[in-house]
Amino acid sequence: MAPGVAPEAVSGYQRLSLWWEAVPVPLPPRPALTQDLQADVCIVGGGFTGLWTAHSLARADPALRVVVVEREVAGFGASGRNGGWCSALFATSDAALARLHGADAMHAMRRALQQTVDVVGASAAAEGIDCHFAKGGSVDLVRSEAQRVRALAAVDQARALGIGEDDLRWLGSEETRQLVGAAGALGATFTPHCAALQPALLARGLADAVERRGAHVYEHTEVLDIRPGSPSAGPAVVTAGGTVQADVVVRATEAWTPTLPGFHRDIVPVYSLMVATEPLGEDFWASAGLDGRATFADHRHMIIYGQRTIDGRIAFGGRGAPYHYGSTVRTTFDTEPKVHALLRRTLTELFPALEETQFTHAWGGPLGISRDWHSSVGFDRSTGLAWAGGYVGDGVATTNLAGRTLADLITGADTALTGLPWVGHRSPRWEPEPLRWLGVNTGLWTMKLADRSEARRGHPSRLAGALGRLLGQ
Ligand SMILES: Cc1cc2nc3c(=O)[nH]c(=O)nc-3n(C[C@H](O)[C@H](O)[C@H](O)COP(=O)(O)OP(=O)(O)OC[C@H]3O[C@@H](n4cnc5c(N)ncnc54)[C@H](O)[C@@H]3O)c2cc1C
Repeated sequence: MAPGVAPEAVSGYQRLSLWWEAVPVPLPPRPALTQDLQADVCIVGGGFTGLWTAHSLARADPALRVVVVEREVAGFGASGRNGGWCSALFATSDAALARLHGADAMHAMRRALQQTVDVVGASAAAEGIDCHFAKGGSVDLVRSEAQRVRALAAVDQARALGIGEDDLRWLGSEETRQLVGAAGALGATFTPHCAALQPALLARGLADAVERRGAHVYEHTEVLDIRPGSPSAGPAVVTAGGTVQADVVVRATEAWTPTLPGFHRDIVPVYSLMVATEPLGEDFWASAGLDGRATFADHRHMIIYGQRTIDGRIAFGGRGAPYHYGSTVRTTFDTEPKVHALLRRTLTELFPALEETQFTHAWGGPLGISRDWHSSVGFDRSTGLAWAGGYVGDGVATTNLAGRTLADLITGADTALTGLPWVGHRSPRWEPEPLRWLGVNTGLWTMKLADRSEARRGHPSRLAGALGRLLGQ
């Protein structure tokens, strides 16, 4: 057990999410950092970004001294609590990527993300991690006229950008019903580039894998400061137990980034919340489908997402929780009774047979959004500081791409990955408060209002689009 950690605090991690419940207790103890240390690479944050980076570095050069420092335990953050969509989705739209970086760069990014879905499955398997990976694609339901207009426009836009049927296609109502028996589905869009997985088992398994490969993971070690390097000294990571002096420091703290000195306005933490049903019977699944464990959502403005778990539950989530003033991140924000109740209602609307079903779990966590909604990865050789993040809700696969890319950047390998358009991208900083609070919450309220207006009036709301343009999303 790490020094100063009560046993109940450790087993308490099982309450973080449905997924964490499957992590064996007591958790394997990992020591906290208690002395100064020299390393080649020090990674701050033990989520998917930090762990995939450590994994890729250890594979690229087993002689590298790689250290991961994590305030809680590996997988404590969004990585151990998410919807388990391992998808090729990217926070920035294809149209925006093409506009900003050109069509070739957009297609290169898409292909890299699509390949990454398979890389995650293959890497987990190669490390002996059973994370319930099943690549069944993803179905985005259409349940109103307004959603139909938006879905067809998305397919048209994909075609205009040169994205073919193999990547995104329209499903008629019958085809949709064969895939998923959701109420009121008029059709859907479908992409094959998505797998469902169990994220906490992946995160915990990865932490073990990076240790087997020679990296050190320090848990219960809060980083108080990241000091940039200079021509005469490398960067440093300051913790209460000791300072890590390294050639390279990787910031992999996503939603917690604003809690670090100097990074207060780089990323905004926004909460996504989830619920899960009890395991559902054969009768339910005979009509609900999702046989290949395709993930599902619909074309409303406010993001929702679901997966059929390996033990026959539905794990279902959505945004809608408010942004907290000053970019505060607190465990108490993981629970929002009103949002959890809304999620249970929404899922029951999709599958009315769930009316009498027990919902056994409710949890949540913060994800990270950069000001221009553009995820990025980069390494500044002059300061020795590297980073990756701003994935919004699309980090499960993207973190793997980030980890492989960071390893190439740090070891100086000039590869196809280091040429991708998100490499070195610098997002503008968020506004100071109270503008930040106003802007983010206005965006969230607008999406809710737009969905309510569409449900009432049937035709597409212009509200959300107009606000999105105003906020530069
Ligand atoms: C409820 C929810 C559902 C989601 N669903 C999906 C989904 O289905 N598909 C998808 O692609 N994405 C999804 N996401 C997003 C995805 O989970 C994240 O993008 C991804 O996990 C980010 O990984 P990360 O390693 O960058 O950050 P995290 O996993 O958040 O890890 C950051 C780590 O840094 C540590 N840390 C922070 N500050 C410090 C410090 N000062 N010192 C030391 N350590 C520190 C934290 O404790 C944490 O462990 C979801 C997110 C949430 C919250």
